[in-house]
Amino acid sequence: MTEKIGFIGLGIMGRGMAANLLRAGYAVRVWNRTVSRMTPLLELGGTAGSSPADVAAHSDVIFICVSDTPDVQAVVLGEQGIVHGAQPGALVVDHSTISPAATQEMAAALAEKGIHMLDAPVSGGSEGAAKGTLSIMVGGEAAQFARAMPMMQAMGKTITHVGGHGAGQMAKLVNQILVVVTMQAVGEALLFAQAGGLALEKTLTAVAGGAAGSWMLSNRGPQVIARDWRPGFTIDLQQKDLRLVLEAADQLGVPLPATALVFQFYRTLQQQGLGGEGNHALVKALENLAGFTIGGERPLPA
Ligand code: NAP
Repeated sequence: MTEKIGFIGLGIMGRGMAANLLRAGYAVRVWNRTVSRMTPLLELGGTAGSSPADVAAHSDVIFICVSDTPDVQAVVLGEQGIVHGAQPGALVVDHSTISPAATQEMAAALAEKGIHMLDAPVSGGSEGAAKGTLSIMVGGEAAQFARAMPMMQAMGKTITHVGGHGAGQMAKLVNQILVVVTMQAVGEALLFAQAGGLALEKTLTAVAGGAAGSWMLSNRGPQVIARDWRPGFTIDLQQKDLRLVLEAADQLGVPLPATALVFQFYRTLQQQGLGGEGNHALVKALENLAGFTIGGERPLPA
């Protein structure tokens, strides 16, 4: 029997993911705190829930994609939360990026009621959510991973079971360390190239195919040169993820000096009102230190 699906949180990511489940033929009951955001999903054939508990009462598998740790806690364990509607045997799949430790606590609280949970944060941006090409990093029991797999295949391309509860969130934080420290290197490299009088586009072409090549360099490098700060992922959300990384590193006793530095650079940009710009605007913090801009007036060599 096909499982009935619920989807909670229809923001930039959730709306594309829920739409792909509907297009794959699943019956989906949706709920969003701001009710008007449900309309496009209802037009695609979804039904409207009145609360997370109501969605859970009508669903076998309940997907979540909301902002931060307290938001997931509210929709799972709050007054109108999933826990008050879900039947024993139901499965909760959380696609938000949140604290690994809080995830383990929630999974334990749900298990007491016979409700399963997978943490399944995603990477790939709004474009990946809309196209169904997300990378999904999953923590939890193998049997529940197998159960959710056909549904996750409607939303993602690279779907990996990385371990027990919280392991999916840990893998996502690993992803975020790599993203921001790489972006810091891209910014320093472009600033250095600028000061040396190199043609920036040509320099990118020269290095992108070698050992220094990366997704951030090839995709965000040209955006930096064009001074196009439109967000695929905003500084504010990136900073939320770095806060989660540094909290987890603190609990584990692991030094992450480069990630901590980038966190402080992003903070200076937030203070300048740039939190809504794309995460590649990190280079602006370096430009502030250097006193010149990439793609701008080039300083004369000393
Ligand atoms: P978004 O567009 O800001 O949407 C956030 C969603 O969460 C909205 O539906 C919002 O409801 C809901 N929400 C927030 N707090 C809530 C609460 N306390 N109770 C109920 N609903 C609440 O964010 P997004 O870009 O879709 O991101 C969602 C998650 O995916 C985040 O954890 C983010 O880090 C992660 N993510 C995002 C990207 C990306 O490129 N955007 C990529 C990978 C992962 P309202 O509509 O009422 O505000």
